[in-house]
Amino acid sequence: MEQKPQLMNVSSMIGATERAQQRVQAWIDHATKVQADAGKSERLARLECKACFYASRIGGAAMTYRPCMCCGSRELYSSTATDVLCAPCATAGDLCKRCGGDREIRAQRKGWPAAYSETPNA
Ligand SMILES: [Zn+2]
Ligand SMILES: [Zn+2]
Repeated sequence: MEQKPQLMNVSSMIGATERAQQRVQAWIDHATKVQADAGKSERLARLECKACFYASRIGGAAMTYRPCMCCGSRELYSSTATDVLCAPCATAGDLCKRCGGDREIRAQRKGWPAAYSETPNA
């Protein structure tokens, strides 16, 4: 593979500089939103932690089953971007439905829920 050189002139360099500024500003704006938990009510409605809720998610378009890691309930998802927990277990355990961590990102929280004994964890 061979690529052509970029056209070099003042306006192409200004354009590249402005795109770089916009990308950096977008990261800063996004980080500000994460820090302020700007979508908190929607995040809690989706039972997700900040890390999962504010990240972009890419999944293949294929109906996918995945058992809940806690109760083993066979959950159906509309893409390959599945969650580790079903909604009732995420709710009961104050866990993030998507990643299974503490929903408020507290590694030092008191008490963690246990999986039901019959859960077929592979
Ligand atoms: Zn469950
Ligand atoms: Zn999460």
